[in-house]
Amino acid sequence: MPSTLARLRARAFHRQSGRCFYCCCPMWEQSMEAFAATFHLSSRQARHLQCTAEHLHARVDGGGDSQSNIVAACRLCNARRHQGKAARDAAHHKEYVERLMRRRRWHHPWVFERLLRSGGG
Ligand SMILES: [Zn+2]
Repeated sequence: MPSTLARLRARAFHRQSGRCFYCCCPMWEQSMEAFAATFHLSSRQARHLQCTAEHLHARVDGGGDSQSNIVAACRLCNARRHQGKAARDAAHHKEYVERLMRRRRWHHPWVFERLLRSGGG
């Protein structure tokens, strides 16, 4: 039986059309193999884009497992928010990620080449 957090993650994944809350890259939730095949990625590469449950209000700060507090974020964006010194709050992390995404400096180059090239952007 899936945990509450897993259910909230799945719901957020669908609500966000399978895209990361921070970097807006496509993510995978169930099948890494299918995702990797679609975008021609190695499994090592695809791991970065695994959908994770991200607490907007961090758990260490008392944020709970509720629908309003859970968004879907790729593994890389989630991990980097909580890395290093003080974890950024979600709004600042989103601004930070969006700024670096515009400069194509957040993800590895293959993300921009293989996942985000459609749409003529
Ligand atoms: Zn992301």
